[in-house]
Parts: sequence; C-alpha cells; structure tokens
Amino acid sequence: MAAATTVDVVPSFSAGQWRRDASARSGEVFNPSTGKLIARVPLASAAETDAVVRAAKAALADWAETPAVERARVMFQFRHLMAAKFEELAALVTREHGKTLAESRAEAQRGLEMVEFACSVPTMLMGDTLPNIAGGVDAETNRHPVGVCVGITPYNFPCMVPLWMIPVAIACGNTFVLKPSEKVPLSAVRIGELLEEAGLPAGVFNIVHGDKECVDTLLTHPDVAAISFVGSTAIAKYIYEVGTKHGKRVQAAGGAKNHLIIMPDADLDQSVKALAASAYGCAGQRCMAGSVAVAVGKIADPLVDELCSYAGNFKVGPTDGYEAVDMGPVIRAEHRDRVAGYLDIAKQEGATVPLDGRRDFAGDGFLLGPSVVDRVEPQMRLAQEEIFGPVLSVVRADSLDAALEVGRNCPYGNGASIFTRDGYAAREFKHRFNAGMIGINVGVPAPMAWFPFTGWNQSFFGDLHIQGTESVHFYTRQKMTLTRWFKSSADSFQDPVWKTVRKG
Ligand code: NAD
Repeated sequence: MAAATTVDVVPSFSAGQWRRDASARSGEVFNPSTGKLIARVPLASAAETDAVVRAAKAALADWAETPAVERARVMFQFRHLMAAKFEELAALVTREHGKTLAESRAEAQRGLEMVEFACSVPTMLMGDTLPNIAGGVDAETNRHPVGVCVGITPYNFPCMVPLWMIPVAIACGNTFVLKPSEKVPLSAVRIGELLEEAGLPAGVFNIVHGDKECVDTLLTHPDVAAISFVGSTAIAKYIYEVGTKHGKRVQAAGGAKNHLIIMPDADLDQSVKALAASAYGCAGQRCMAGSVAVAVGKIADPLVDELCSYAGNFKVGPTDGYEAVDMGPVIRAEHRDRVAGYLDIAKQEGATVPLDGRRDFAGDGFLLGPSVVDRVEPQMRLAQEEIFGPVLSVVRADSLDAALEVGRNCPYGNGASIFTRDGYAAREFKHRFNAGMIGINVGVPAPMAWFPFTGWNQSFFGDLHIQGTESVHFYTRQKMTLTRWFKSSADSFQDPVWKTVRKG
C-alpha cells in the first residue's frame, strides 16, 4: 500500500474555489484493480458542509435569473468538453471503480446523454396556456427553479449517477451541491473541473465530500430545497424520511433484486449471453443487474449448463490499463468477501453452486469470478437480499404465473426482463410483473436520459423519478397566473371565475 504522504487529497469545490484543506476526518480511495490506496478524501464536518451550502445559496439568485437559453449554452459547452475528454473520463471511472474500460465508456456515454437532454431545457421549461379560461381571463403556468439542490450518490456509477442530477438541476436554474460517494470521488472532481471550464459561474456547482455527518447536515439544512439520492435501500428510506420531515422534496432511489424470466421457448444462446451480461456486467454492481434467473419448465437444465460454461470462460482481471478483460474487480476487499459469503449461505440453505467464482487470482485486486447458484427457492436469502456482486441465482418455476409470483414476493421493484418468442407471455409479463422497468429480450432495461428511471416498491422513495420529464418537474416548481384586463372601470364588477356580480 502506498504511503499516506504520497497520496493526493481529493479537493472539494465551493464558491468557485478548489480546496484541499484537511478535514479532521478522512477516508481512503482505492484502485480496485491493484488494491492500492490512490487518494484520501476529506470527510466534511457539519460546519464545513454548511459553508458549501452557503456558497450554493449565494449563487442562486443570479443563476436563477440567467435566461434559460444562456444556461443551456453552458450545458452545450460542457457537453463539448465531456466529449473531448471522453476517454480520460472513462479511464478515471475504471481507475477508481474497477469496471472494464468498455463499461466505463458506456457509463460516460449515458452521462453525456443526460447533458444532451439538459441542453433542450428552454423547451422543457415552457408552460401551458389557455386563453379565455373564464370570461376575459387568460391562464398560464411557468416553471421556476426550486433553490439549492443536493445530490448524494453511490459508488457504482461515479460519473453517470452524478450526471443523472447535475445537468438538469443546473439547467433548470438551481444551484447544486454534490456529495459523491466517498469511495469514488475522483470522477466527480473531473466533472466539476469541466463545468468550471464550460463557464459555469462560481457557486452554481459545488462538491462536498463526506459521510453521515455531512449527509445529515445536508438533509436538515434550512437552505436546501431538494435532495436527489441514489444508493442502498436502507439509506434511501432514511434520506426520504428525514429530508421530507425537514420540508424538502426528495427523490431517493434504493437497492434492487432484478429478475430475469426465461421461458421454455426462449432463444437459449442469446438469452444466456444477455443473462451473463446483465448479471456479471460491472461485476454485478449495477442496480439493474440481473440477480435472479427464473427458469420456466424444461429450459432450466440446459440454461444452467450453458450459463456455467459461458460465464466460466470469462476473463476476470485488473481493468486499469487493460482492455481485454470480461469482468473486473469489485469495489473493496470486504465487499468481495461479503459477496463470496453468499455462496456459503447458498449451500447452507440447500441450494447448489455449479459455478463458484472464488479463485486464486494473481495480484492484490479485489477480484471474484462469476458464480451461478442453482435450485434457489424464492424465500431463501439469495432470492430476497441484494448481493451486489457477480452471483446469479437460478430459481426453477413451472409456469409464467409461478415466475410472476417470485417477483411479487420480493421487496424490491427496479427491473425485470423476460426472454421468450411468445408475444402473449411477453405482454402478460410486461403488464403484471411487480417492477417499474421491464425488458423483453433485453437483459438490462435501464431507460436512457429521455425516459424516467421508474423504480417501484423498496427500490424508490418519492414521487418524481430521476431522468426524463419527471426530473424537470422535480427540479422546478410551477407558478400559475390568471390575467384579466378590464375593458372599462365603469362596468359592473363580476368575478370571472365565481361569477358573483357586484353593482356600483
Ligand atoms: P450506500 O447507500 O452505501 O451509499 C450511497 C450514499 O449514501 C453515499 O454517498 C454514502 O456516503 C451515503 N451514506 C452511506 N451511509 C450513510 C448513512 N448511514 N447516512 C447518510 N448517508 C450515508 O450505497 P453504495 O454502496 O454506495 O451503492 C450501492 C447501492 O446503490 C446498491 O444498493 C445499489 O442498488 C444502489 N443503486 C441504486 C440505483 C437506482 O437507481 N435505484 C442506482 C445505482 C445504485
């Protein structure tokens, strides 16, 4: 492990200043490919966090008054810079997170699309009008910023998830404080540098690093108007409860347990490849990762055989600087051990492990190969709990109805997919499965920027989701105006809506 003195301190950013002041507490950032410490991240105190919120508050009035067209122009410039630095951003994600370079490029691309979405903000802020809604009265709505917005993000998408929030919030005229995951703060810093270079005024975008003390300060701060959170369910629920109790609007996306239903008539070869990409992509650390395969009827045996032989050939290794890798490490050694522990739990619960990802890998990276667990029953921990690693559990069901029941008994509700050639089964599944994002022969049905990220049940707390028009609605509040011009002051007064008349 590198000596602490040789390791960079991650800067925070507020009022247009990059600061490397040492907070009293700090966290460690690792390169999961090598297991080496690569940076130290300050963990802000309540007072340090308060100062960052104040910076965002101070910048709010001017930014909110900046014409939407000019705000959009900053987003166009930011988009241009992101595209120019695309490979650098992807490499940084791989360095601090460990996903493959191809996966990091895909992540950066999804983030870029959120910026493209935000570039059209003048159109998205247009209100509704209805002339003559009552006699001589015109009605119109306008969208206004909500104020200082906060983003609290998880470790698994260091670039994309902050960009789910920042571009739309800022383009809508709000100022923003990002509290990135303390495990992966480097991509957020690069995003901040590019926003600054794009011409964003000081204080409009700010970064504070921290853990619970910092988050609790943001959740209860009187100058914070809205909170966007993405992370595990327990924390999402906490953020929603505390944030709303303190009068903030909150959107809080939580954890997941995503089901992949394979019908007897499915294309086996294509389905196996889609399942493996879904379950083992980003080493299983995606909130949309396929986690439970429900094999319906006679397809179960060939499916498990094909999955084990296909995933068993994955090249697993360090990703930082390496292209030819199918799957990289997980985020931390403790997380690898926690995920691997589920393979022992599986056996204790009576399931089988036909593909066990525990191997002796060279080097100190946090590596774990893909695993398949077979004969999992719906009530077992492997079918109920979010593992968040490269483990795919197979539940065997004898009908589509039984497969739908597996989903109904799971507390989460992010994504679910069906693999079939039967349109009727696909339609039934789409209509009845208990989750908010549905795939038909698509392993990771994650919506792109223009559509909302519609998690259900314990996978989302709030009303308006991240992405798409719902995000514009989350980051704005409406004002409705009724206008009437009097023809003559000599006319008798009639209330235009209530129709009451008063003479004289
Ligand atoms: P996490 O919940 O541990 O952390 C998320 C954020 O919350 C971090 O910024 C962290 O600093 C903060 N935090 C952690 N503990 C806290 C506490 N006690 N009080 C206040 N703040 C706290 O999540 P993670 O491990 O970083 O990310 C993985 C999780 O995120 C998984 O559960 C995954 O499913 C979920 N996720 C969900 C979505 C979605 O759209 N639903 C997307 C990506 C990730």
